[in-house]
Amino acid sequence: MKKLIMSLLASAMVLSMAACGNTPASNDGSQESASGSTGEGSSFTTVVEGKLTMATNATFPPYEYVEGGNITGIDAEIAAAIAGKLGLELQIDDMQFTAITESIKNGKADIGLAGMTVTPDRQEEVDFTVSYATGIQVVIVTEDSSITSVDDLLAEGANHKVGVQLNTTGDMFTTDDVEGAGKGEVIRYDKGADAVQALKTGKVDCVVIDNEPAKAFVAENEGLKVLETEYAVEDYAAAMSKDNPALYEAVNTALQELIADGTIQGIIDKYIKAE
Ligand code: GLN
Repeated sequence: MKKLIMSLLASAMVLSMAACGNTPASNDGSQESASGSTGEGSSFTTVVEGKLTMATNATFPPYEYVEGGNITGIDAEIAAAIAGKLGLELQIDDMQFTAITESIKNGKADIGLAGMTVTPDRQEEVDFTVSYATGIQVVIVTEDSSITSVDDLLAEGANHKVGVQLNTTGDMFTTDDVEGAGKGEVIRYDKGADAVQALKTGKVDCVVIDNEPAKAFVAENEGLKVLETEYAVEDYAAAMSKDNPALYEAVNTALQELIADGTIQGIIDKYIKAE
């Protein structure tokens, strides 16, 4: 319930941001970056002139992953569509998930797209666009596991080892609910795939991770399954600098238009087939 409220709170903040527009202090022009224009009178600056630099962590199928040497997936296509609308070329930089917000704050990337959940803590670091997808934290277990629901994980005396990807919401939630509540141990991995390997080799008893990568990992690894009960429902959005309101406005408007005209749903449907 706490997760749901947190998620709703985050959504409400995103919606209210969208409703009132983003009104940070004016750009003082001190940015070293080059300028661009949407051709509709609004101009903005990007980290590299003529490019939209996207920070991501390409280990999160179907949102971002490497295929044939290229980074592909829902987020890569959404970013390409936004870049196209703004007359920019898309440049994708792959990095650790934890480095994404830092690279935005340090002026190395214009936009972070990584199946990133809107959370109040992150909203202190970056501005989020409108949400473009829903994510669900789920639990992966081995087929013969004694863990059959989220409740089993959070039960008094459960004492399970839970694998997560470092600094993701799965990490944040279980750090509070499992470790903080003295109900088990959380083991953190750089990649979700590493947490899944740890589950296969018995180093952890379950993995808490987003539902779509969970499905992809289970499809690739025999003997694993995703529990039906949901741990938390979340909103994915693009992270952007708080110091570049003109670019935020241009990207957020482009994304809203791409949602309204069905482009985003079309991209999502290409990668996530209805069950
Ligand atoms: N949605 C999760 C989060 O924002 C995981 C994202 C990811 O691993 N790319 O923390």
